[in-house]
Amino acid sequence: MEEFKVPKKFPTTVVGSYPKLDPAPEILRKLRKKELDEKDFHELVRPAIKKVVDDYLWAGIDIISDGEQSREDMVVYFAERIKGYTVGDWVRIFDNTYFRRPVIFDKVEWTSPMTIEDWEYARSISKKRPVKAILTGPYTMVEWSFDLYYKDRKEAVLDIAKVIRKEVEEYLRRGVKYVQVDEPALSTRPWREDAELVKEALEIIFRGVQAKRVIHICFGRLERILPYILDYPVDQFDLEFKNSDFRLLSYLKEYSFDKELGYGVIDVHSLQIENIDEIVKDIEKLMKLDIIGPEKIYIDPDCGLKRLPREIARAKLRNMVEAAKIARERW
Ligand SMILES: [Zn+2]
Repeated sequence: MEEFKVPKKFPTTVVGSYPKLDPAPEILRKLRKKELDEKDFHELVRPAIKKVVDDYLWAGIDIISDGEQSREDMVVYFAERIKGYTVGDWVRIFDNTYFRRPVIFDKVEWTSPMTIEDWEYARSISKKRPVKAILTGPYTMVEWSFDLYYKDRKEAVLDIAKVIRKEVEEYLRRGVKYVQVDEPALSTRPWREDAELVKEALEIIFRGVQAKRVIHICFGRLERILPYILDYPVDQFDLEFKNSDFRLLSYLKEYSFDKELGYGVIDVHSLQIENIDEIVKDIEKLMKLDIIGPEKIYIDPDCGLKRLPREIARAKLRNMVEAAKIARERW
């Protein structure tokens, strides 16, 4: 197999989700109707994962994901697999949008690997590129569920952190290099108390972990939580910049940010394909601040790409990779 080395400067990566490709939507429907068991489900979803990985390789992404083809929703997926959770019926919130709100009804427990099979499959076809382990964080799990069991929120969050920790241990046994925890709910509640609760949870999830520890937070009031999160036990913050017109940059300078940064340069809410020159200029905005060097900067989209049409997602990634190559020459 060909050798692959993650570039030392401006490595490229993805946040995680990708448009659902065939046959994933059909396989998900069958799972919902209980026509498939968990093992068959992960087998049958493989052709979709293969297409995602092929797109990443075509674009030239250095650190990839499995595209979250098995996850119809980042919270529901885990709620359906954690003991102590139940997932109710679909509720219509408006026109064509339905959601299912998970309910915690008992003490939560990890029973078996939840995400490993898809990750292992992606790794087997990744041509040696590292595949990130991507897990929904316990704070977001609790914020986006109904809790009928725990007396307080903190207890629930920390118990789910222990469940996620078990999953991380499964990855560590298999030699994972990057572990990412997604906490999008945090930027919608940008208060110190909430940020400190997430820190406690991360200490459980990441204690002694030798792989690269990443937290992804996106949208909402990132600049308000920034001062509370800088001492998190992580190696890398993966954050959205493009959609908010790089507003966060001046705050990074103000708070002397010095960790690794997943630098979101692709707007996942826009069909407009960022051109190469535009992305290079956006990288330049960070370089001009002179806070961290190119070896600490990971170039990636703001968030998962799941809402974009496949062709647009591919084209955006390709331009992002080309821009990173130019950046490596320049800085
Ligand atoms: Zn996100």
